[in-house]
This record gives sequence, structure tokens and C-alpha cells, in this order.
Amino acid sequence: MSTTTTCEYLETLYEGYGQRFRMEKLLHEVRTEHQHLVIFENPRMGRVMALDGVIQTTEADEFIYHEMLTHVPILAHGSAKRVLIIGGGDGGMLREVAKHRSVEHITMVEIDGTVVDMCKEFLPNHSKGAFDDPRLSLVIDDGMRFVATTQEKFDVIISDSTDPIGPGEVLFSENFYQACRRCLNEGGILVTQNGTPFMQIEEVKTTAGRLRSLFPDWHFYQAAVPTYIGGAMTFAWGATNTAYRKLSRETLSQRFAGSGIITRYYNPEIHIGAFALPQYVLQAVNKPSND
Ligand code: SAM
Repeated sequence: MSTTTTCEYLETLYEGYGQRFRMEKLLHEVRTEHQHLVIFENPRMGRVMALDGVIQTTEADEFIYHEMLTHVPILAHGSAKRVLIIGGGDGGMLREVAKHRSVEHITMVEIDGTVVDMCKEFLPNHSKGAFDDPRLSLVIDDGMRFVATTQEKFDVIISDSTDPIGPGEVLFSENFYQACRRCLNEGGILVTQNGTPFMQIEEVKTTAGRLRSLFPDWHFYQAAVPTYIGGAMTFAWGATNTAYRKLSRETLSQRFAGSGIITRYYNPEIHIGAFALPQYVLQAVNKPSND
């Protein structure tokens, strides 16, 4: 768990290795029904939110993570109309999904309503009003329960969860991936936050073993997000259409231009390159190559 000295926040996600943030100003701290929430100001990273001792998001680098978990699957799909976000209480994922005019309906299932309320108040630059989008259905519930019981179907499912500890653990379970597969329309895509493989290789191995039997095309893609320490972060990819991961640069460029979305990290070349995994990750997931 984290420890806060008079003016420092020490993340202790990993034994014997971690990052610290000077807490210029503590904006809010509360033990919610589900987790310990802290939001503070840091001179370098802007406003920072942590849950149960783990840094969740910072104003400075959230754009990398949120752009890569939304524009990659939505532009690869090409005609996503119904998007499901699991978790994502800070609103950054919702903000990026809502930029896609082609998306007609967004369901967001967040277990902790206090995270939504506090992020609306103290991290307004994350959601930027997206919680008022008329396409949004916000459900305060356990994402596992939702995907296990809903009759709705989705074109893209984005799991923007905490790490597999506490309430987030169930979002890395076999049942969760199976239920997500059930909730996908034909041609649907599931993407999930899947940790930094250099530090959490077991997480990648476990997810690979679970996606392998569920999706005709499963893989991972990567982006370096500074405050998810320990190297590049992996995003799990499960697609019902094997062509989606092999789109040409021209196709992606046309779709990206057509979306009219201005990004700070995502572009078609980054999209394609992100799926190139290093040998140690391929070996860990028993994939001979990036094909
Ligand atoms: N970007 C962060 C990361 O990569 O770790 C995730 C940020 S987002 C704040 C994580 C959200 O997942 C939190 O708001 C948390 O409340 C939510 N969450 C955790 N377990 C959940 C569950 N079982 N169902 C729905 N939401 C959940």
C-alpha cells in the first residue's frame, strides 16, 4: 500500500521498486465503499489520482493511455456504433471515445461512483464534459456482473480497470473475458489495460492463455506511459475478425483523417507499430512472431 509522508506520495505497487511524487497540494482523500482514493497536485505531472496505493492517472500523460485504448480498436473496427467502457471512472476514456461521431451509444460501467464524482470535481480536464454526452449510459456497478448479465451487444469493449488487485481482480478473470466475448457483436473487438510486461509478465501470460481460446485473433499492443512505471504498458487485444490487426496504413490514415480527431499521441504509424512486441513478450505468450 502507499505511504504518504508530509509531502510525498510513495507508490509501492512493486516490492522494493517504485516512484514517488511530491504532493504540492492534497486535493481530496477518501476511503470509498471500494477503495482508498487520493487526488493531489504534483509540480511535474499536474493533478494525480491514486487508488489503493497505485497511481491511476495524471493530467500530464493520460492522453497517451486514453488515445491508445480508444482510437486503436475504434479505427481498426471502422464502423463501431456501440462502445462499452468497463471502469474508467476518471472520464478520460469516455472523453476520447466520445470524439468519434460515428459512435452512437456509449455504456460505461464503473464500480465506484465516488471516483466519478471526485474526478468530475478535481480532474475536470480528464472528462472535459464527456459525462454530459447524450450518448452515455453511466452504470455504477461491478463490470463483471454487468457483462455476465446484460443482453446488450457492443462493437468495442474497453476494459480500463485498476490492476488485478481488489475490485479490479475480477476484470482479469476467465469469466470476464468469456462474458465480454459473449457481449461482442460479430466483428467486435475487446481491448484491456494489461500492465507493464517488464514488471508484470505473469499478467500478460495469464491473459494470453485466456484470450487464446476465445478470439480468432488475440495479441497485445504497447505504449510507454511514463507514470505506469517499469517500461511500456501492454494492452490486450481480442478480435473476432482477423483482418482488423492487418489493416494498411492507407486504410487507417483514411479512417483517422475521416474521424476529424486531433490527437497528441495516436497516429496510424504508431497504431501499426504498437503491435510489434519484443521477443521476451512473444516468448512469454508462446507466440512465435508478431503475426
Ligand atoms: N488507467 C488506470 C490503469 O491503467 O490502472 C485505470 C484508471 S481507472 C481510474 C480504473 C477504474 O476501474 C477505477 O475507477 C475503479 O473504480 C474501476 N474498477 C475497478 N474494479 C472494477 C470493477 N470490478 N468493475 C468496474 N469498475 C472497476
